[in-house]
Amino acid sequence: MKRSVFLACFFVAAFALSAQPRRVAVLAVNDMHAALTQMPKLKFLADSLRGEYPDLLLLSAGDNTTGNPCNDRSREHPTPMTYLMNRLLFDASALGNHEFDRGVDHLVEEMRVASFPYIVSNLPMLGFAPDSLEMLAKECYSRLFRRSYYGYRIALIGLTVDALPAEEAFASMPIKRIRAKNDLVILLSHAGFETDTLVARQYAGQIDLIVGGHNHLNLPHGWQRDSTALVVQNDDCLRHATLVVFRKTADGWQHTLQQFALDRFPSDKPFADYVAALDRDLGFEQVVACLDQTMTGKRQLGEMECKSFLQATQADVALLNIGAIRVDSLLSGRQTLGDILQVDPFDDEVVTVDIDSSQLPKLVASCQRSDRGREPVVVGQTVGKGKISLVTTSYVADYLRAYGLDFKPTGMRNQTLLADYFARLFPCR
Ligand SMILES: [Zn+2]
Repeated sequence: MKRSVFLACFFVAAFALSAQPRRVAVLAVNDMHAALTQMPKLKFLADSLRGEYPDLLLLSAGDNTTGNPCNDRSREHPTPMTYLMNRLLFDASALGNHEFDRGVDHLVEEMRVASFPYIVSNLPMLGFAPDSLEMLAKECYSRLFRRSYYGYRIALIGLTVDALPAEEAFASMPIKRIRAKNDLVILLSHAGFETDTLVARQYAGQIDLIVGGHNHLNLPHGWQRDSTALVVQNDDCLRHATLVVFRKTADGWQHTLQQFALDRFPSDKPFADYVAALDRDLGFEQVVACLDQTMTGKRQLGEMECKSFLQATQADVALLNIGAIRVDSLLSGRQTLGDILQVDPFDDEVVTVDIDSSQLPKLVASCQRSDRGREPVVVGQTVGKGKISLVTTSYVADYLRAYGLDFKPTGMRNQTLLADYFARLFPCR
């Protein structure tokens, strides 16, 4: 009996080897930004696809984190996002700029408990101390990762943003040789669409697929010219995911592409229950304010945040990058703590500095440059003043340090100030 079971297993294994499917399926996402409430839908989609493609490759182009306080304030390792990515059986991720938001130590801890590798081939990143990147290098990331897929050899390489140019990174790991030794070469890139298309052209015939991110660009049909790699990208926050199926033919690999809108899918129940419990556990479901009217526009919400800084610090002027504001409106009615925290999901310290009022335009312009040219929010009084005090976030202050300014910590967090301000201004009766 035992022998026949053994033989049956042997034959199944032998059959599996000989019946190598002539296809490789990849499900690509990017810039998930801790969209915890979409993860149950992604789980449902991935499970459904695994019915047809049991060895589905699930890949992220980075910026997995920052966007939901349930995740971004979590003191646990893994954070909820990494925990769900582990359970979803992610195969690999690129390293996004937001992976660094809570510092290198936090990132290293997250990488230790992630069951998938972070892949990046072009460190060092700009603006990071070499010793912290060395620690990162020692601990966690891979420059090249190989994965076997029913006997096909898949090579994964990675790029991140604000780091070495691709050609410099690839000079020490020749793509041609990697291509020769593998059946498919996939680049996970958080370097942005422009870089992705340049790399696709420069390494035509050597890279097959670029899973791109960082621009939050939606490419429902991907991007490809002649024999370049196929570039895919899905806006952000798990609104979409792209399935690419490569088929082996006599002429090499051919592919088909399909983009899915995740809102059309039901939620995986255990995942949905886990996410709902997070909200409850952290008190994010607690109602903190009641709005009489809908508050529309990022600028108006940014002004609210600036006013909360002014009220708490008594500074003259508040400055905030508009990119910090991540929702377009707050609908009238009850606002939970979770709703308010999502207005600006970046948990930063509020800092102040004394400046001469004539310096302000230069600082505002610098903030604008660092925020992709978007005009920042400025609230306060400067008319007729010499010395003024400026309040902003530690994030903006990092960009303004080049001016030799001595920012003072206040010990207060921006998200807490905003929630308190709403609670005071719009109490529920
Ligand atoms: Zn990014």
